[in-house]
Amino acid sequence: MSEKYSIETTCVQGGWKPKKGEPRVLPIYQSTTFKYDTSEQMGRLFDLEDSGYFYTRLQNPTNDYVAQKICDLEGGVAAMLTSSGQAANYYAVFNICEAGSHIIVSSSVYGGTFNLLTCTLKKMGIDSTVIDPDCTEDELHAAFQDNTRAVFAESLANPTLAVLDFDKFAKAAHSHGVPLIVDNTFPTPVNCRPFVYGADIVTHSTTKYMDGHAMSVGGCIVDSGNFDWETYADRYPGLTKPDESYHGIIYTERFGKAAYITKATAQLMRDLGSIQSPQNAFLLNAGLETLHLRMPRHCENAQRVAEYLSERDEVAWVRYPGLKTDRYHERALRYMPNGTCGVLAFGLKGGREVAVRFMDHLKLAAIVTHVADARTCVLHPASHTHRQMTDEQLKEAGVEPDLIRFSCGIENVGDIIADVEQALADL
Ligand SMILES: *Cc1c(COP(=O)(O)O)cnc(C)c1O
Repeated sequence: MSEKYSIETTCVQGGWKPKKGEPRVLPIYQSTTFKYDTSEQMGRLFDLEDSGYFYTRLQNPTNDYVAQKICDLEGGVAAMLTSSGQAANYYAVFNICEAGSHIIVSSSVYGGTFNLLTCTLKKMGIDSTVIDPDCTEDELHAAFQDNTRAVFAESLANPTLAVLDFDKFAKAAHSHGVPLIVDNTFPTPVNCRPFVYGADIVTHSTTKYMDGHAMSVGGCIVDSGNFDWETYADRYPGLTKPDESYHGIIYTERFGKAAYITKATAQLMRDLGSIQSPQNAFLLNAGLETLHLRMPRHCENAQRVAEYLSERDEVAWVRYPGLKTDRYHERALRYMPNGTCGVLAFGLKGGREVAVRFMDHLKLAAIVTHVADARTCVLHPASHTHRQMTDEQLKEAGVEPDLIRFSCGIENVGDIIADVEQALADL
């Protein structure tokens, strides 16, 4: 395993550790396939008897070095890259669920994840119960069923910026003998370490801050190694009973703490094939090298913009956990003591139409379907990602019709505020 360095050093030098005469920079293994000397050697790989690369749909060295870096940043035991954040969340759940299973999903998760977990998985026979992340402990306990196999939530919700009550969720999940899966995309491991607070599996859309420059779509799954699948062997037969597609191997027996990620790679990636391209993994790695420098700047800028907006008459409300008045302020101090992220949400007096006019007047902040990268950007869910919904439906989904999602980049904060100011002046 890797030596233990601080998070900053791991951002820069984690993963690829060149030996004598090897390239200092992570190489891109732009190859679909890998060479062996004998048929027997390759056969052993297919039986999972030996570890080694044979086909990039399953594994690629460039990807694995980057996954190792993210694994070390999160403090996990094993990790894998996926082609997108959506694929990461799909695999994270599907790896331990099958038709007939049930999952508990926080209502504040990202819209794409919500569709995946409550709509698309339902078509595959996996049922879900959606709960308000701020529900009482009793309400949370009541959501569990005999066939519940996982609890899914975001550490910092996109776009409502709700901070997860890790204690409540981890305790409830573990008392019912199921793992807690946490999407840690928004704070990144620089600002939040879900495993320390009881999460068992972490997922990421690396498309956001990790890549950081809006260059490549990608995802990652990290396993803490803490959940004991064998204690609940009957619930997780995919991990604890023979896999007929590999001559009957049992993942927990053969791979120990690496069982969950090995199964996701050897079985789900083999059959469903959402691998990240090595080229994109290389770009992701370059982004990770400055993640520890960018996150504090994103937070600093967002804090200043949130404070500025709070004082403007045109603004109806602002949501940013860094504001002392925010309902998640105390919880953020506990779980994300160094800050949350660069995204904030606010509403303007006058609602939907004024929001649209405000955004059209912005010059530096661009209207894009993206969030959490180096350039300041803005999105109005009611006009864009949630366009087909009525105002009533939007409220039910927890997205106010006037909600503007503002993602502060790492530009000069004076320039960002000046842009907001001139757009407000022009309403
Ligand atoms: C963007 C996002 C996703 C989906 O990731 P893609 O890389 O776009 O597939 C999942 N979760 C959160 C919190 C996100 O912000």
